[in-house]
Amino acid sequence: MVTYTLNTADLERLTARLLARRHALAAQRHIHLGGQSRTEHAHEVLQQDGDDAPQRAADREVDLMLTDQEEVELGAIDAALERLAEGRYGLCEDCGENIPLQRLELTPQVQHCVGCQAVRERGRLRCTSL
Ligand SMILES: [Zn+2]
Repeated sequence: MVTYTLNTADLERLTARLLARRHALAAQRHIHLGGQSRTEHAHEVLQQDGDDAPQRAADREVDLMLTDQEEVELGAIDAALERLAEGRYGLCEDCGENIPLQRLELTPQVQHCVGCQAVRERGRLRCTSL
């Protein structure tokens, strides 16, 4: 059994940062989508025509890409908040070891220790180079 190294003050600080980041991302995403839902947004891209349509479509494309990244980050933050609620926050999802506080301070939603993260990234690189 791994001894949990985060104390209440650490957890409270990191929770506040996760919630603040979540709030900022949600607001940002709202701006990128112009207040539309994802489906409406994609629909509008398809409906565009006229001379500047390619440019507008490209702009929309960038917006949607940004939104995808935001979506991924939001998902990671939600997962982190869930782990907080379950008392597993700050433990590596793969090996179960404590993720160093320094690493959590840098990226509060991080799910893996440096070692496991490196293994995952090597795995991904191998997959995409095939
Ligand atoms: Zn690990």
